[in-house]
Amino acid sequence: MKKATTPELSKSRYLYGLRCPKYLWLETWRKKLRNEYDEPTEEILAQGYRVGALARKLFPGGIEIPYNGFSMDEQQKQTLEALKHSKVIYEASFQYNGVFVTADILRKVRGGWELYEVKSSSKPEDSHYDDLAVQYHVITNAGIQVSKTHLVHINTSYQRKGALDPSQLFIVVNLTDDVKERQASVKKQIAAQKKILAGAEPDVPIGAYCYQKYECPFTSHCWQHVPDKGSVFDLAGQGVNQYQLFHEGIKKLKDIPLDRLKGKQRQQAEATRKKQTIINKEGLQEFLDRLRYPLCYLDFETFMEAVPSYDGQSPYQQMPFQFSLHIQKKPGGKLHHHEYLAPPCVDPRKGFLDELLRVLPEDGCVMVYYMPFEKGRLEELAKRYPRKNKQIQGVINNMVDLLEPFKARHLYSWKQEGSHSLKAVLPAFVKDLSYDDLEIGDGGGAMQAYHEMCALVDSPEKLATLRQHLLAYCRQDTLAMVKLLEVLFERT
Ligand code: SF4
Repeated sequence: MKKATTPELSKSRYLYGLRCPKYLWLETWRKKLRNEYDEPTEEILAQGYRVGALARKLFPGGIEIPYNGFSMDEQQKQTLEALKHSKVIYEASFQYNGVFVTADILRKVRGGWELYEVKSSSKPEDSHYDDLAVQYHVITNAGIQVSKTHLVHINTSYQRKGALDPSQLFIVVNLTDDVKERQASVKKQIAAQKKILAGAEPDVPIGAYCYQKYECPFTSHCWQHVPDKGSVFDLAGQGVNQYQLFHEGIKKLKDIPLDRLKGKQRQQAEATRKKQTIINKEGLQEFLDRLRYPLCYLDFETFMEAVPSYDGQSPYQQMPFQFSLHIQKKPGGKLHHHEYLAPPCVDPRKGFLDELLRVLPEDGCVMVYYMPFEKGRLEELAKRYPRKNKQIQGVINNMVDLLEPFKARHLYSWKQEGSHSLKAVLPAFVKDLSYDDLEIGDGGGAMQAYHEMCALVDSPEKLATLRQHLLAYCRQDTLAMVKLLEVLFERT
């Protein structure tokens, strides 16, 4: 191995640079400009750690090169030692020509080493090829013979039975040929990125890459010139390219020439200009005619995890842990509320299903918002508990989707900004109910809170408070449906 020097690039920075040169530059020289809200949650970090630790079990008995508190030079020194006498190394560190990389797993084989990169994703993605390609470039040029490069990713078909089985939880894909093919471009890209780092902040226009897969952590810096409200990026759905419009100087939705828009995008732009509410009374009536009492407004909350905790659970399966149900027996009648929130750290499915089937009237019209979600969870529960299948199918057959009239724009307000989500529709039509005062404001927050409950089992007061926040959030979702249906009745 060559003598270490202070690196200009790392594997992560290289990948940022592939996405956007300005991202690389800002991450290196102006990290303080990062968005305030871009820190990954503890749960995401813990999940990545769990996945990494389990993947190591595919290649047990290795030596880990520690990185916390160690300089890059020290990490490389320890790697050099480990290469002499270990057959498996975790977090081996290398540097070549100013680029520093750390390999998740290296395994010694006849004629060299095999390289394994572990990801929590369910399939190979383009960035994984680039990730392995830059590692291969650095490690081979540092003097190590790499015979194969692999991606280790999550197998979503795996279903846990008893103890976790890493050989089933992961899929190992050999990407050696693709990685080798990318070598020439890696070399060119590294040279280009070094030039970028040596220069001033690159002038890069905003583009689709700002939100590619995840939001870039520098959007608050780069998107300052985009109007907060009413920009062309509020235009929803497929059709015109908003970035093209923006770069032509058309920054506001109201300034887009209408002849450049079609279908729902045009309808949105027109409604926004006129501050209009669109009503199709016939369409609304058709929807309302399908309803019958008792009306049961139902909403589920779920969590998912890369590493399944319970038997019969698959990676990234949506696991229902909470529901809220408002029942109305006759038009304008009193609301009866039922709710369920599973205790922390247990498989929530059985308790959830038993309680749901206990409180849900068999003949009820089950109103949900975006039916594929609740229906999908019920179908999964029917497979898990086949004896309840008949009852569950009855619930599914009674379902009506409140999203339908809003998606079809039988009722549409310009205030929805083209979105049909419950969180966009509610404030457009209902003034006295809002998510703003709630501690938990969306499904992601509910999932996080449920995970947090596990850590609070020894703090009953905090646990009780968190439970109240979760119950209040889910209750709000079904109450929002109640209010929106009232609006539909008023508008027909
Ligand atoms: S916000 Fe967009 S333009 Fe700015 S650094 Fe990120 S990807 Fe590049």
